[in-house]
Amino acid sequence: MKTMITGVRPTGSITLANYIGGIKGFVEQQYKYNSLIFIADIHGLTTYINPKEIRNNILDITAMYMACGIDIKNTALFMQSDVLEHCNLGFLMSFQCSVGELSRMTQFKSKKQQLGKSEKDMGLFIYPTLMAADILLYDAEIVPVGADQRQHIEKTRDFGERFNNIYGNTFKLPEYQIPKIGAKIMNLQDPTIKMSKSAPKDDKGTIFMLDDIEITRKKIMSACTDSEGKVYYDENNKPGISNLISLVCVVNNMTIEEANEKYKDYNYKDFKIEVADSVCKFIKDIQDKFYQYRNDEKHLKEILTNGANKARVYASKKMEIVKEKVGLSI
Ligand code: AMP
Repeated sequence: MKTMITGVRPTGSITLANYIGGIKGFVEQQYKYNSLIFIADIHGLTTYINPKEIRNNILDITAMYMACGIDIKNTALFMQSDVLEHCNLGFLMSFQCSVGELSRMTQFKSKKQQLGKSEKDMGLFIYPTLMAADILLYDAEIVPVGADQRQHIEKTRDFGERFNNIYGNTFKLPEYQIPKIGAKIMNLQDPTIKMSKSAPKDDKGTIFMLDDIEITRKKIMSACTDSEGKVYYDENNKPGISNLISLVCVVNNMTIEEANEKYKDYNYKDFKIEVADSVCKFIKDIQDKFYQYRNDEKHLKEILTNGANKARVYASKKMEIVKEKVGLSI
């Protein structure tokens, strides 16, 4: 059976884009694979966040994963920092890459800008080596992610392949799995930038999964559109409307063609009302489940402990093999 893995950083409140890019595809396929899903808490530390907030985000994400349908009977759900092999292998992965290639990573360049003048950018710089370890450690072949992670998965393949070429076949090489609809959900107010959970809590363009439903409705109703007045999908010329079409398709399991047909005679106001109704109903169902899980922190902690115990079994075996291959076991 093949292995599938994905993760989310606890750097803010989960957005609808995180659900679409990482969680949805994972939940739908979890029984087809040996499945692991983790909270990328060490990656989260690449930008400073108040420790209390991180702790809270970790529990929120755990409850959110459960509310979205992760089945822990089948899937190991754990914190990255609970399985130290991620860091061990991440360090070894740094020997498989150059400063030049890491400095050309698009995420490094854009996130470095966000850091401003701060010199403390080494964690951000070596992010791809830890991410490679997250995946290679489990021989994961399927990685459901949003389009923004494509380059990281390609680098993971490169590092794994270089290691295999030197030390003999050790790692399986992963494939990214990017959703057909909603690979890159855009900000509702500025559809030229992606929706991101590091946006301020009151950002009108970001749909947070835990936002009050009426706030979500308002955000959708005030989403930026265009002056043409016709509803159809055209990412380049109608990014705002196309983004809303992606949302309504994802939450209603519709294709883009079906949406184009269904909404072709709608004006923008009526179309937005339909999008808002669908998205709000979808999120409300998840929220109801979320609060049931979130109210029981003891259970959430148990879930993470059990998940880490499961993950550690694979990770420690793999690390032994890696150490043997490179000559670190006597
Ligand atoms: P992150 O927010 O970087 O922790 O990402 C967690 C998951 O959500 C990854 O699979 C990302 O690719 C995905 N993701 C983040 N932002 C978006 C977006 N705007 N559209 C689609 N997927 C996204």
